[in-house]
Amino acid sequence: MSFHALALHPQLLKAIDELGFQTPTPVQQQAIPHVLAGKDIMAGAQTGTGKTAAFGLPLLHQMLESPAQVQAAGRPTVRALVLTPTRELAQQVFDSLITYSKHTELKVAVAYGGTSINVQVKALEAGVDILVATPGRLLDHAHVGTVDLSKIEYFVLDEADRMLDMGFIVDIKRIMKRIKNERQTLFFSATFGKQVKDLAYSILEEPTLIEVTPSNSAADTVEQIVHPVDKNRKRELLSYLIGSRNWQQVLVFTRTKQGSDELAKELGLDGIKAASINGDKSQGARQRALEEFKTGKVRALIATDVAARGLDIEQLGYVVNFDMPFKAEDYVHRIGRTGRAGLTGRAVSLMSIDEEPLLRAIEDLLDKRLPQEWLEGYEPDPTIQAPEHLRRGRSSEKRRAKAKSKIHKNRGRNTSRR
Ligand code: ADP
Ligand code: MG
Repeated sequence: MSFHALALHPQLLKAIDELGFQTPTPVQQQAIPHVLAGKDIMAGAQTGTGKTAAFGLPLLHQMLESPAQVQAAGRPTVRALVLTPTRELAQQVFDSLITYSKHTELKVAVAYGGTSINVQVKALEAGVDILVATPGRLLDHAHVGTVDLSKIEYFVLDEADRMLDMGFIVDIKRIMKRIKNERQTLFFSATFGKQVKDLAYSILEEPTLIEVTPSNSAADTVEQIVHPVDKNRKRELLSYLIGSRNWQQVLVFTRTKQGSDELAKELGLDGIKAASINGDKSQGARQRALEEFKTGKVRALIATDVAARGLDIEQLGYVVNFDMPFKAEDYVHRIGRTGRAGLTGRAVSLMSIDEEPLLRAIEDLLDKRLPQEWLEGYEPDPTIQAPEHLRRGRSSEKRRAKAKSKIHKNRGRNTSRR
């Protein structure tokens, strides 16, 4: 199947051809006809499956088919709103839409926090066809009246699961109140837990369900391996892996912001150029780190889950879990950063003994065991044990609770016998 078979506007096909896209990805093949037919959709697809074009192309097409009414006096209107959880993701979706629409006159704008609001106000002034925004900054604009959401015809929620993880539910509800009910809604999420489903059903109308990869299953193109190692030797092992295996571009996940900064510094001392990217940094600093990583100036980019959201780095070969994620879903998102668009990637997890329960949660979610391998010279020290409370079924608290319930049972029996 080609993009031409999807009957998209010639000006869009021209841009697609120039981008070198040959065949639509599965989510694009499935979503585009439904969006063109005006249906709501609820799509489950991993990162890197091409969701931006899956909603972007048919939206742009519909706008070309029915041009905007001439802007009446009043507040600047928006025809389509795309909500994304992070600034990086907003910027990335915006860049893609600009590229897809380069041979059209359509106006696309972006609004997120951490940058000047005035520049955004200027871009919105005359009204726009598509606005890509993060929830907080969008509400700022709506409150001061620099944007009018009441005329929105198309509403896209990108990465809805992450949006909820980041606590945006209240903001989303506030935004929904400003949008009219007659609209087309496109809902995307990599995972579909209860909270995500509840939100989906509250804002979608008779949606077409699209599931590209079973939700919660990691991309098949990613080879996954777990290396058990002592916590205090993780950094040493990471430097060794990067050096000895000659990894030139590796994305490393830590759980905390401080952890990402410290690790970047320590890798630097080991002679490996590294940069960190986290929510404490200014937008400029994050963009710079990303640029250096993309251009190969730094070999390792150390990121927290939130900061990494929306990074689109082409042909990323290696993802390392320096800390196992607290939430099993985050594992799916993390490894989705590699093996993008059909390429093979490797996801390497460095797991200390206290993180075993986190691995079990991931394996439960994926419904499969991940292969484990000890690396010579880095075998875990067998005398180090997990903290008492993490040892499964052996916790003293559990034992005490069990003993207690036994006493109760025995008592019960005793009384009944009497
Ligand atoms: P997602 O939003 O699902 O994470 P993106 O829309 O960011 O995925 O796309 C991931 C990458 O795949 C981008 O680099 C994009 O340019 C590329 N891509 C998207 N669609 C196609 C296609 N049909 N053919 C080739 N590459 C594509
Ligand atoms: Mg995306």
